[in-house]
Amino acid sequence: MDDSQPAATAPWSPPIGPAAPRGLCTDCGISRSDQPKRCGRACQFIAPDYPGLEQRVHGRARDPARPDEVFFGPFRRMLRASLLPPRPGAQWTGIATRIGERLLETGAVDAVLTMAPDPADRWRPVPVLVTNPADMAQCRGMRMGYAPLLALLEPARARGFTRLAVIGIPCQVYALRALEQELGFERLYVIGTPCSDNTTTERFHEFLALLAEDPDSITYLEFRADYHVELRFTDGRSKTIPFLRLPISKLPPDFFPLTCRTCVDYTNALADLTVGYMGGTGAQWLLVRNDRGEELLATLGSELRASAPTSAGRRGGAVTGFLKNVERAAGGLPVNAMPDWLRPVVGWLMPRIGPRGLEFARARGEMKAVETVIHLRRQHPGRLRSMVPGHVWDLVARYGLTPGAAERKRVVNPSLPAARSGVAPAAGADHCQPGAGPPIRPQGPD
Ligand SMILES: Cc1cc2nc3c(=O)[nH]c(=O)nc-3n(C[C@H](O)[C@H](O)[C@H](O)COP(=O)(O)OP(=O)(O)OC[C@H]3O[C@@H](n4cnc5c(N)ncnc54)[C@H](O)[C@@H]3O)c2cc1C
Ligand code: SF4
Ligand code: SF4
Repeated sequence: MDDSQPAATAPWSPPIGPAAPRGLCTDCGISRSDQPKRCGRACQFIAPDYPGLEQRVHGRARDPARPDEVFFGPFRRMLRASLLPPRPGAQWTGIATRIGERLLETGAVDAVLTMAPDPADRWRPVPVLVTNPADMAQCRGMRMGYAPLLALLEPARARGFTRLAVIGIPCQVYALRALEQELGFERLYVIGTPCSDNTTTERFHEFLALLAEDPDSITYLEFRADYHVELRFTDGRSKTIPFLRLPISKLPPDFFPLTCRTCVDYTNALADLTVGYMGGTGAQWLLVRNDRGEELLATLGSELRASAPTSAGRRGGAVTGFLKNVERAAGGLPVNAMPDWLRPVVGWLMPRIGPRGLEFARARGEMKAVETVIHLRRQHPGRLRSMVPGHVWDLVARYGLTPGAAERKRVVNPSLPAARSGVAPAAGADHCQPGAGPPIRPQGPD
């Protein structure tokens, strides 16, 4: 370590109150705050107002004339990027935590609010406030599960932190933005990661147990954009498994909670900067959304290697196949099985001819939208109207899913003429050709 750097300490993890009982909830922390009733205004799962918050945070809502914004939310520019050198222990190259470290090093913020691993379980997220730049290294990597990140906003204010950076997943960032103006911070930087298919840490351990004989030695798992899951182990081994070979059929139907099957913000549209990998073809994928996002990116200086993202393949067949399987699984029926002999062939073909780069990210966005509509229709039909924003209907329209009169939200995109309420197909989807094709992530029994 550089001698000029402070040695690592323990990030601050103040005690957190109990969660209030809630229906659809990922325990973002607001129900544990001094004013738990704010959930009604803050929650992604109650009555979100994406156009309104996009307008406030980015100066405009997503623009249908910029086709990819329907998929990914408002952005200035997208990059395919890597941090040089990649940081050990990071989920990808460590861009998210390095930005937090740089903000602390330069004195731009008093603290970074993010997740560290539970000392007793590396997969369990624990919210922490980091003030020592060297401690950001302990927060690297992905944990599976929910933890009340925003419950630390009040302790942060009480300790006198006025300039804060938050690294969070979309359901946390939605609540943060919804309450931002009443939180009283002088400056707030929001680094968001995309998120999908989260579940409880307990359930995730069940999944790990299906993947290896020694699940406790798994230190890393990632669903890569090349249709493989990568595992790393304590002894330095690594292993990749094609998606089609995952033991999905052995998971219970409720393995993924309804929250994460009906989540409408895959790409963290309200972050200043989204740091993911989905559109990055093996590198990371950045969406710079506003001035503050540019400022965050600039903290990395020459440590960042960036290029334009690429796009290849056609997503239509994959999304259509996924939709059929979600419909069957949601109805309690076995999904269309692929014969065992065909799996290696399709597993070999998918990374080569399936959607890649930005087209892969668009496919995942449409799949998430399809899941949202199908699962809510089956389990909470009354919630579609308040919970599903117009951009989700835009994404599913070309797959034959259109809102009934009682399902359509009456929120008008503030950057659009009042007549348009968000049900037209996405302009960016016009090269999509629905047809038979393999699902990207298998649903239910395979
Ligand atoms: C449950 C989950 C699902 C994800 N799914 C996708 C996806 O489908 N597509 C995609 O492009 N990206 C996804 N991501 C983001 C991806 O895993 C990486 O975090 C991101 O690409 C940044 O990589 P990095 O190397 O820059 O991160 P690092 O520098 O390693 O930092 C990772 C950051 O994520 C935080 N974090 C880790 N686990 C959690 C958690 N459970 N809740 C909240 N914050 C957490 C850490 O505290 C840290 O600040 C997901 C993340 C999570 C937590
Ligand atoms: S996710 Fe957050 S805002 Fe929504 S109900 Fe749970 S605690 Fe409240
Ligand atoms: S998938 Fe959506 S609801 Fe689930 S944890 Fe991620 S952001 Fe939250």
